[in-house]
Amino acid sequence: MTPLIAFIRAWLPAPTVRRLAALALMLISVLGGLGTAQAAPCLIVTLTGTQSGPAAVNGLAGAGTLIRYGDESNGCSALKLQFDAGRGTTQRLSQLGITPVQLDAVFLTHMHSDHTEGLVDLMLLRWMYWSKADDIDLVCGVDAPPERGHSLSCTQLARHMGDTFIASGEIAERYADDTSRRKGGPADLIRLKTFAPARTGETVWSRGDVRVSAVRSTHTADHVSYRIDTPAGSVVVGGDAGNDTLRPPRASSTSAQVEKLAEGAQVIVHSTMHPVMAPGGGSGMPDAVYYRQSLAADLGAMAKRTGAQVLMLTHLAPSLGSTRHGPFSVPGGPLTVGDYQRAVAPSGFAGEVIVGEDLVSVKLPRSGR
Ligand SMILES: [Zn+2]
Repeated sequence: MTPLIAFIRAWLPAPTVRRLAALALMLISVLGGLGTAQAAPCLIVTLTGTQSGPAAVNGLAGAGTLIRYGDESNGCSALKLQFDAGRGTTQRLSQLGITPVQLDAVFLTHMHSDHTEGLVDLMLLRWMYWSKADDIDLVCGVDAPPERGHSLSCTQLARHMGDTFIASGEIAERYADDTSRRKGGPADLIRLKTFAPARTGETVWSRGDVRVSAVRSTHTADHVSYRIDTPAGSVVVGGDAGNDTLRPPRASSTSAQVEKLAEGAQVIVHSTMHPVMAPGGGSGMPDAVYYRQSLAADLGAMAKRTGAQVLMLTHLAPSLGSTRHGPFSVPGGPLTVGDYQRAVAPSGFAGEVIVGEDLVSVKLPRSGR
């Protein structure tokens, strides 16, 4: 015992010494806690592709949305979830510095090639260089009930992911080069998680404090829409959803299930049809193709009702600056960002409308709000 401590002990009563020591310990623990405090959670929504339909237009990538979540210490990127993966998804991810092995899960809205063909490319690359990595979750709806003699099947898509390259002999050749690769090709890396979609949101995937729920929505027989909930905010990825009533008269072209799912979400990402393509207006687009998408003004009205802060229009039909939409013409000539903004305006939606271009991002929580 040092003379100083002996002096304090002698001078102060023992309970006071103990109280002071406890106070000092508490201060040290509070100050230490401040130094290692959890960084604020954050989320980034990025459109990896904004093309609508199978056509190739001016370098646009096919439909896809990347959701990154984490905190400020890791650039909001501890978790990376890809929703749909159209043509060119791998290239767009590479522009963000993201390789296929870094994705934690891929979610598909439906079995249309403009939403899935990029997954083949992505999985082939993952197999090539990262066969030893953990499997990737592929989340999608169960096989749709057969319609018109065929059934849409994510299970079959997953199972046959690398078949073209198996048939060509490349998978066997690359495997002979490096037997640490999975022998069966890209399909061997997929951990398939199918779910039976319901009309109200049900959790289909979760990790830590991130939860993804899904609803059945109308477009194709297998179509689903997703909601991602995190402590930084919530995002809805509507996909190509339209109303269950396939054509007018109806209250809206948007999906009632998606609207319910989107209640209170800060961001809605949704495929968009511009009214210039309407039947009878000279586009030549068949009624069924036009009516199975959501119209810009109806999306604005839905975003207003659900209280969204941001409406991200993607999968634009027609693409910005394009004279054609696939085989159909764009009456009056190419559309601008302003044309889409004006199409949403009648809805009275007061939040931000982002007319999607590839790699545009929104961060949550919104700063200054
Ligand atoms: Zn589509």
